[in-house]
Amino acid sequence: VLQRDDREQEGVALIREALAANREVSAVVRNYRKDGALFWNQLFIAPVPDAEGIITHHIGVINDVTDLMRYQEQLEYQANYDSLTRLPNRNLLRDRLQHALIVAQRQHKGVAVVFMDLDGFKNVNDSLGHSVGDRLLGVVAERLARCTRTSDTVARHGGDEFVVVMTDTVDEQSLIAWMERVRASISEPVWLDGTELYVGCSLGASLFPQDGDDAETLMKKADLAMYRAKDMGRNTFQFYQPEMNASAGARLNLERRLRRALRDNQFLLHYQPQVDIHTGRIVGTEALVRWRDPEVGLVPPSSFIPVAEESGLIGPLSEWVLREACRQNKAWQDLGLPPARVSVNLSARVFQQRDIAKLVMQVLDETGLEPRYLELELTESAIMRNAEEAVSMLNELSALGIGLAIDDFGTGYSSLSYLKRFPVDRLKIDRSFVSDIGISGDDETITSAIIALAHSLKLQVIAEGVETSAQLDFLKERACDEMQGFYFAKPLSTDAISELMKGGTAHEPAMA
Ligand code: C2E
Ligand code: CA
Ligand code: CA
Repeated sequence: VLQRDDREQEGVALIREALAANREVSAVVRNYRKDGALFWNQLFIAPVPDAEGIITHHIGVINDVTDLMRYQEQLEYQANYDSLTRLPNRNLLRDRLQHALIVAQRQHKGVAVVFMDLDGFKNVNDSLGHSVGDRLLGVVAERLARCTRTSDTVARHGGDEFVVVMTDTVDEQSLIAWMERVRASISEPVWLDGTELYVGCSLGASLFPQDGDDAETLMKKADLAMYRAKDMGRNTFQFYQPEMNASAGARLNLERRLRRALRDNQFLLHYQPQVDIHTGRIVGTEALVRWRDPEVGLVPPSSFIPVAEESGLIGPLSEWVLREACRQNKAWQDLGLPPARVSVNLSARVFQQRDIAKLVMQVLDETGLEPRYLELELTESAIMRNAEEAVSMLNELSALGIGLAIDDFGTGYSSLSYLKRFPVDRLKIDRSFVSDIGISGDDETITSAIIALAHSLKLQVIAEGVETSAQLDFLKERACDEMQGFYFAKPLSTDAISELMKGGTAHEPAMA
C-alpha cells in the first residue's frame, strides 16, 4: 500500500524471495506518505514457527530511516561535489576522467583535459573580501559550464582552479576555438555589489592519447601547460609540450614542496648578530629564513624566496617569519638575555599589501614584544618602486614604534627628496660596496658618501657583509655605527646565537 507505483524495488524483491523461502529478511524500501512525500523504511521480517515447525505468522519491525538515508546522500554529495559552485570536485573529476579514458580506449577516441586558473583572483579576494571572491567563483563556474556540453565534466579543482574533461570532438583545432571562447567569456566583466570586476584566465590542455594514457599524467601535463600560459603573460592558453616538463615542472614541484613545508613547519630561522662598531656589543640580530627540506637538508633563501614570491606563498611565509622572530626575541628577553632588536626582511610583494601594519601590530600584541625591539628591513628598490605610496605605508609602520631600515642601500636609485620624507631609522650599506673596500676606490667613495649622507639625515648606518679587519677599520674610521658580517659571526642557529648573546659582546680579539 505504501509503495504506490514504486514497486520495482530491490528491497521489495528481497522480501518476496525471503517470504517464499521462509527466511528472515532485512531490507530497505521506499515508501510514500499520503501527501506523496518519500520516506525510507528499514524492514525486518522473521517467520515464527509453531511447535511442529509450521510457520503460523510473521513478526515485522519497521524503522523510519529517512534521516539516515538523507545523511548518506549528503555525505556522498559532499565527497563528490564542491559546495560553493555545485560542480564535481577533484574526487569525482578523477573518477570521471578515468571512466572517460576507459571508454575512449575502447572506442579509439580522444579525450582532452583542460586546466583553467583565474588571473587576478587573489587581488579580488584580498581587496574585496572572501564573500565577493566566492560569488565570483560561482559566476565563473556558471560561465564555464555554459561553454561546455552536458557530456563533458566541469570540475572545481580547488581554489580558483577548474578542470574540464572533454570527450568526442577533441581535435586541436576545435579545442583552440573552445579555449578562445572560454577565455572571452571569463574575461567579460562581472557585476557584484555594484562593482565591475575583471578577471582573466589562463588555460592549459593535454590530450589523450598523445600526451599520456592515465589520468594522473594527463592532469599533470595540463597543469604544466597552464603554468606556461601564465608565464607567457596570462589570459592565454597553451597545449602541453614535452619541453615544459623540465623547467615549469621543476618550478611547480618546488612550489608544491614549499606549500607542504609551510604546512609541516619545515622553516626555521637563523640569526646573524648586528654589532655596535665602537663597543662591540650585540645590538640586534637579523632573522634569516632557512628551509629544512627532508630530502635535501638546509636550503638557503635564495633558492626558494623567488618562487615563494611568484606563487604568493611569500605572504604566509613572511607572516610566519615575523611571528617566529618576535616570539623568539621575547623569549630571549624573558630568559634575561640583554635586550636587542630583531630585524625581519620584508619582501616587496608583502610590503605592497596594505594591511602589513595591521599584521605587525597583531603579531606584537600576540607575542608581547615591545615595538622598539622589532625592525623591518625593506630593500631600497622595493620602496622606490612606488615611493609616494611607500611614504604613507612607512608612516603607518613607524607610528607603531618599530624600527625601519633600508636594506641593500646604494644599489637602487634613491631619490634624495624621498629619502628625507621616509620615516626610516637606518640605512644598510649593501654588501657589494663593503666587499670592495681595499679593492675599488670608487666603492670606498660610495661607502663614505652613504655614511655621511645618512648622518646628515640623522639616520644610523649599518654595513653588511663585513668579512675582514681591513673593512672594519675603514668603517670605524668613517664613523659607521653598526656592522654585520662573517668577520663577527655567520648566521647562527637559535641555540648558538643565544650562547653568543649571553656574552652580549663580541669575543673576537679584533673587537676588543
Ligand atoms: P640580505 O637581507 O641582504 O641578508 C644578508 C645575507 O648576506 C644573508 O644571506 C647572510 O648570510 C649573508 N651574509 C651575511 N654576512 C655576510 C658576509 O660577511 N659575507 C657574505 N658574503 N655574505 C654575508 P642569506 O641568509 O642567504 O639571505 C639571502 C637573502 O635572502 C637576504 O639578503 C634576504 O634578501 C633574503 N631573505 C632571507 N630571509 C628572508 C626572509 O625571512 N624574508 C624575506 N623576504 N627575505 C629573506
Ligand atoms: Ca636584510
Ligand atoms: Ca642586504
